[in-house]
Amino acid sequence: MEVVKPVKRNILLNPGPATTTDTVKYAQVVPDICPREKEFVEIMDEVRRALVRVVHGDPAEYTAVLFTGSGTIIQDVLVNSLVPENKKICIVNNGAYAARMAEIAQYYRITCVDLKFPATGRPDLKVVRDTLEKDKDIAVVGAVHHETGTGVLNPVRAMGQIAHDNGCIFVVDTISTYGLLPIDIAQENIDFCMSSAQKGLAGMTGVSWTVGKIEEIVKSKAYPPRSYYCNLYMQYDFFERVGEMHFTPPVQTIYALRQAIQEYWQEGEQVRWERLTQCWEAIHQGLHEIGLESVIDKGIQGHLVVTVKAPQDDKFDFFKLHDYCYERGFTIYPGKMFGLETFRLCNLGQISRKDIEDFFVVAKEAFKAMGYALPLNQ
Ligand SMILES: *Cc1c(COP(=O)(O)O)cnc(C)c1O
Repeated sequence: MEVVKPVKRNILLNPGPATTTDTVKYAQVVPDICPREKEFVEIMDEVRRALVRVVHGDPAEYTAVLFTGSGTIIQDVLVNSLVPENKKICIVNNGAYAARMAEIAQYYRITCVDLKFPATGRPDLKVVRDTLEKDKDIAVVGAVHHETGTGVLNPVRAMGQIAHDNGCIFVVDTISTYGLLPIDIAQENIDFCMSSAQKGLAGMTGVSWTVGKIEEIVKSKAYPPRSYYCNLYMQYDFFERVGEMHFTPPVQTIYALRQAIQEYWQEGEQVRWERLTQCWEAIHQGLHEIGLESVIDKGIQGHLVVTVKAPQDDKFDFFKLHDYCYERGFTIYPGKMFGLETFRLCNLGQISRKDIEDFFVVAKEAFKAMGYALPLNQ
């Protein structure tokens, strides 16, 4: 991949899109092509196979189905397509992204058992088990692997076991772990996982996918079609018969995704995970030096997002901190927790420990510019 001219590198510490390589950016610059051509159909096929392989799926059992859109589109697709007539979905809800799945169910008038748990911890699995044992109309259990809103990593393997023990399929939003934290889809008891190109694989925004059980997709043909554009079976069927998306794919985004996947294999799943864990450790180290604390217990974090408790005084101004860092090439993000001033530092993309250390040099200056003496707790 030729990089004609290096692009200014910004360090994105927001929860996606992530910092990308120039080779991924330049992969989009290709001769114009009609996506119905065989040449593009082959690229689609290669990408679909690779997406199954990232989560170690057996291609005889699992397939990838892609849609044009941001991550929420694939939550929408799975929620609206996999619930049989007169059956229910149960959402294990300990954060904003699980809440979004429950909201999607509501929009489609699908009966949803919304099991709410505090966003600062892991869900109580006994409650999940009791609920599924009592309510035999629940056919689908939905959960989020890593709540990007807080940084909590959920115990999906155990949840999936409970779902399967009760005859339910298990749908997991792995949007912020796919391509980052190694996942073996079958071992984790997952029937459908999902992701989006601008997250862990560090591609361009505009395409999202599920990797899911072929058998369950085929069964879903008999379920009520609740959406025209976002129907899982329809899209799968088109891929199988014609080899492409039903409607126009985001052509250049697919080229970038193919490059991002190649870079994923080149780095290696374990090496990537270690690099990101180092970034996450460096975030904790930097916060410690400033005198800031993480809201979520370190032991249940997914190594990809840290929710930081902001100083609870008048001097602190998130926007000042943000703007100071932004002007110097670092993007941070507000928190998503009710009743507590927080902000988030996320390490999803093509960044290194050195980038995080450089960020903290700037962040310390920003705190001083807000009038603080460091460290804060002295
Ligand atoms: C980013 C993300 C989504 C999707 O958000 P979009 O803004 O639609 O891309 C969904 N779930 C999780 C866990 C996410 O991190």
